[in-house]
Amino acid sequence: MSLSTPLIPRHDMAGGNVPGHVNADGVYVPTSEERTAYQALHIPWAEQVKYGYYALYFLCGLLFTFLITNVIWKVRTRYNVKIPLYSRAVALLRLLTYPQLPVNKWLSLLWTFGPLGPNLLLLAGLLFVSAFTWINQYYYYPPYYGSAPLYLRSEWLAMATLPFVYVLGSKRNIISVLTGVSHEKLQVLHQGAAFNFTYMSLVHTIAAIIRARQEKGLVYATQTNEVYVSGFVALSPLLVLFVGALPPFRKSFYEAFYWVHIIMALFFAGALFWHGYKLLDSDAYMIATIVLFLLGVTWRLVMMFLDNPILHRATATLIDEETIKLMIPTLYIKWSPGQHVFIRFSTVRPLESHPFSIATVPRPDEQSNSVRNMVFLLKPLSGFTKTLFEDVRANEGKVTYKVLIDGPYGGAGHDLRAFDSVLVIAGGTGITWALSVLQDLAYYGKGQEVRMIWAVRHTDALSWFEHELETLQKRMPSFKIQIYVTRENPRSTATISVDETKEHHPADEGRSIPIDTPATELSMSFDKTHKFPSNPGRPYLPALIEEQARTTQGSLSVACCGPPSMLVDCSNAVTKAQIGILKGVYPELNEVFLKSESYGW
Ligand SMILES: Cc1cc2nc3c(=O)[nH]c(=O)nc-3n(C[C@H](O)[C@H](O)[C@H](O)COP(=O)(O)OP(=O)(O)OC[C@H]3O[C@@H](n4cnc5c(N)ncnc54)[C@H](O)[C@@H]3O)c2cc1C
Repeated sequence: MSLSTPLIPRHDMAGGNVPGHVNADGVYVPTSEERTAYQALHIPWAEQVKYGYYALYFLCGLLFTFLITNVIWKVRTRYNVKIPLYSRAVALLRLLTYPQLPVNKWLSLLWTFGPLGPNLLLLAGLLFVSAFTWINQYYYYPPYYGSAPLYLRSEWLAMATLPFVYVLGSKRNIISVLTGVSHEKLQVLHQGAAFNFTYMSLVHTIAAIIRARQEKGLVYATQTNEVYVSGFVALSPLLVLFVGALPPFRKSFYEAFYWVHIIMALFFAGALFWHGYKLLDSDAYMIATIVLFLLGVTWRLVMMFLDNPILHRATATLIDEETIKLMIPTLYIKWSPGQHVFIRFSTVRPLESHPFSIATVPRPDEQSNSVRNMVFLLKPLSGFTKTLFEDVRANEGKVTYKVLIDGPYGGAGHDLRAFDSVLVIAGGTGITWALSVLQDLAYYGKGQEVRMIWAVRHTDALSWFEHELETLQKRMPSFKIQIYVTRENPRSTATISVDETKEHHPADEGRSIPIDTPATELSMSFDKTHKFPSNPGRPYLPALIEEQARTTQGSLSVACCGPPSMLVDCSNAVTKAQIGILKGVYPELNEVFLKSESYGW
């Protein structure tokens, strides 16, 4: 990224600049010795690489902190080791990280708001680079005395961030391995690191332009100094990357965004080599970026090859007008609860691959070399999923496709098994994620208390899972199910009309819901045609989670997958429970952990 002046600038003898003399504009042009001596007294050019080191210390320090946290978490969940002060320290940490930020209509055009934790981290990063850039107000040398300190600082702060930007954006990457945080959760950090990188690059560019204007002008600088040209060439793809990734574009034109992003990221890397390779530390940052990025890509390709020695066969069936069920038998892929894979269909928009959560986990007797079934539920939206839906419908509701599987990624791991009580909350097709979590607890759990709340639009949807839920109930006698139907299907026999937006607040019934109340008692006889009775309206999650926290003895995990508003309610209610732990409101409860999955980034 350097726009810095070579030690002997090419234009010294051009344009009337004779070192040691006053030029045509009446400005003294120093000799290179004078310039070096001047810089040595102020901020030497080469010394400014230290800003890159500061950024590296900051980023590696964070990485190390996450690594240690990951190790502590693994020890806690795998071996159930009691760690002194763990309960209060963790409650405090979660209090600071779980709350969801209020969404501002205008700011959300720039940023996808989410939990406070990653936003705090990114704010710390932003303050860090801003402080190092702006606090020292020695921004420019006098004309002809060399590169502006402001653009050197911002350059090195940006360069040190570069490997992190590329690695955080990769599906398989070293940061996920070290921290245990999967690619979809790292997306927000990728976006934040890229934001900082672009911010520093713009400071770098503007400072370079100002410096050029203080001397013989920008046109002259671009004509005589190639580094200005390569700088602008590198800036163009960076701006396309930045603007193209803003939420309105990314969410509305995901496929276009994705391909433009990949192509521009490669173009940018190439332009950066042209712009600043072999300038002090720049080659180290660039090579680290390329090596780490290519390692991730190679790892992903190798895994894809090993997982798909031949293309998998996926049978798609229409369950109803809103859902496709996909069944993919596999011999090769191993997965854990809550994981998702990217599926590429060979005959339906083959250039695209989309993430879907696996609704099953391998049963204990399936773990060896037998064929295991991956089951998915897909909700048709307006792009690929709609095309697939129409294709299946045109083929009498059932088609078999050849597909390439990339993954699995993410998931709940086996962490939830360690908790004394697990509350699983699912909205709509979030049930796929929830089911695999429940199956894991049923097959491999320690017999803990498990409760599920599922909000679904139509009672039709219940029939997909009745068999599965019954099996779970048989395996986990204490398993409680509460189903909320938010909008009755007009084709159903039920006659009560329901306001989807209305929450089914326990207080509506003049009492709170005791945790051991069977779902049958809670039911308002809304639907008698299904084995699992349901309540009308949306579940009032704050009260349900509070109730669960109040009655849990030991540790509680809330696992939530559903629409954004549901995740917000869960996060905020679990945050409130942390306050309860710190204040000693729940004497029997020592920990509340939130595991959430959102179907987007
Ligand atoms: C980790 C994860 C797990 C998911 N699991 C499920 C599941 O089990 N069942 C289910 O029905 N849906 C699931 N989704 C959502 C599903 O991936 C999208 O609905 C699907 O990709 C939309 O494709 P489309 O072209 O029809 O979307 P469009 O109608 O074009 O866009 C709808 C939304 O989907 C987003 N989107 C589109 N393509 C992608 C993509 N390749 N990757 C990420 N987001 C994309 C868009 O940004 C937009 O916000 C999951 C998403 C994620 C991130």
